[in-house]
Formats: sequence, C-alpha cells, structure tokens
Amino acid sequence: MTPQAVDGVARVLVIVMGLLFGSFLNVVIARVPAGESIVRPRSRCPHCGRQLTWFENIPVLSWLALRGRCRGCHAPISWRYPLIELLTAALFFACQRRFGWTPELVLALVFVLLLVPLAFIDLEHWILPQELTWPGIAAGVVLSVPLGIPRLIDSVIGAVAGFLVFWAMEWLGEKIFKKEALGAGDKDLLALIGAFLSWKALLGVIFLSSLQGAVVGSVMLLIYGRAGPAPEEDTDAAPAPTPEADAPAALEAVPGPEATPPEAAREEEEEDDWVPGPTNIPFGPWLAVAALEVMLLGPWLSEVLPVPMNVLLTGLR
Ligand SMILES: [Zn+2]
Repeated sequence: MTPQAVDGVARVLVIVMGLLFGSFLNVVIARVPAGESIVRPRSRCPHCGRQLTWFENIPVLSWLALRGRCRGCHAPISWRYPLIELLTAALFFACQRRFGWTPELVLALVFVLLLVPLAFIDLEHWILPQELTWPGIAAGVVLSVPLGIPRLIDSVIGAVAGFLVFWAMEWLGEKIFKKEALGAGDKDLLALIGAFLSWKALLGVIFLSSLQGAVVGSVMLLIYGRAGPAPEEDTDAAPAPTPEADAPAALEAVPGPEATPPEAAREEEEEDDWVPGPTNIPFGPWLAVAALEVMLLGPWLSEVLPVPMNVLLTGLR
C-alpha cells in the first residue's frame, strides 16, 4: 500500500472509532447522572427493558434500520443517540485533520470524549458530574506529559487558573448580585479545559462561551420564554431511569417554571432542589463549544482575526 492509502485507511478508522465511542458516550450520558455503572448491565430498551442484541447496537445504522423505534415495543428511540454518534465521529475526524498523527491527537480525542457527555448531561440535568470532571482534569495533565515540560507546566497552571477564575467570579456574583450565577460544576469544567488546552486558551474560552451563550440565550428567551432547556423534560424517549427519583420529585412539587423553590428547601439542599429559572442557562455546553472552537479553529482564528483579538482568543503569540 502507498503511504497515502495507509493514511486514508487510518482516517476511516478514526471515524469508525468515533462512531463506536459515540455509542459508548450515549451510555455514559444516560447512566452517569443516575449513578449507575457504565459497564454493566448491557444496553436495554428504556421502555420495555428488553436487552439489545449486537445488531441493534451498531452506531447510526441500527437506528436507521429500525427507523428510530424499539424492535420489541415499537417505542420511539431518541434521535439523540445517532446524533451523538455522528457528532463524536465528526469531532474525531476534525481532531485528526487539526493535529495529524501526533501525541496531541490523543489529548484532543480524550478531550472530545469528556466534553461531549459533559455538555449533554448539563443540558439535560443541569449538572457536571465530578465522576467525569475530576478524572478528566488528571487525564489532561497526564496527557500533556508527552508534549514536553513547558506544555505540562502550562497545563497545570491552566487547571489551577480555570478553577480559581470561576471561583472568583462565583464569589463576586454572590457578594454583588446575591445569587448563584454559575453552577458549582462550571469551576471543574473550566479547570478541565485549562488542563487540556493550557492556561493560554482560557480567556478565549470564557469570552466565546459568554458571548455565544448570551446571544443564543437571549434569542431563546424571546422565542420560547426561557433561555435554557426546561427543567422538566418529556421522557418519551430519553432513557431516564427510575433510581433518580429524588430529582423529578423535587420538580413535581413546583407547579410551573415561573415558580421559585421554597427558600428553606433551597438552603437545605442547594444542589438537589435548585430549579432553573427562565433566564438561567446551563453554562457547561457553552464552555464545551468554546473549548472545541479554540482547539480546532485556533490557527484559522489567528489568521482571520486582528492580532490583539487573536492573542486574547487563542493564546497564540
Ligand atoms: Zn422496547
């Protein structure tokens, strides 16, 4: 085989790996917020509980072949499953194009495998589980080792700075606005982004995520009357398992999105009883989008932007 052919086959393998890992991320997104194991049992239909056979588990193709319905009970299977598989494959492909066959590609792929589930879990449950963010921060630092000592130092500074910046913003928000503007998990996610992309990317990530979150949130607020996703979602196809009983119960106690949670309950168990108001947006997905933009489009951004903007956004000299 010619070197070009080998390269082509390797790229197809990266895409196939993206599809397979995307399929696994669907399991992570469904089970981690519920505190369930991601290794066993095997995947089941969330409606009838029927165990899926191997040919019902083929990324994208199974969903298309079954026309988005369970083979047993014919309940619809969410389009989120093939979407996450395709998204992961596309991001894997983009990472390969950006970094070639380098150690930085490994770092980028692992980063994608953390950002995709974190973004979708935050979008649905308004949490960024520490089961993902904390090992993720460690992975970002460890995977920076092959990139050399300077990058390793930048990674450690990035993790610490990411945590401290949001901690400071949170502290200011509580002192000045007397309310919680950022979720507790956002600190961990920014630390994770700092560990993977180094501190140089943090300013750009904060800028892009705030800007895009504010613009899209405002448009959503105008159209739908709320900036973020509704706290209570239609569980027609989502595999929301029952062990997570306390959260939906807390939501049912509140009649509508306009109602605020009782103060006492809020102070008692802040994390569990907090209900997102109409102007709240989950910030994790926006941080994830901005981090991917800076990582994948950094060189392109540095060409099209004037130099000062460029330094601010991508950390490039
Ligand atoms: Zn079924």
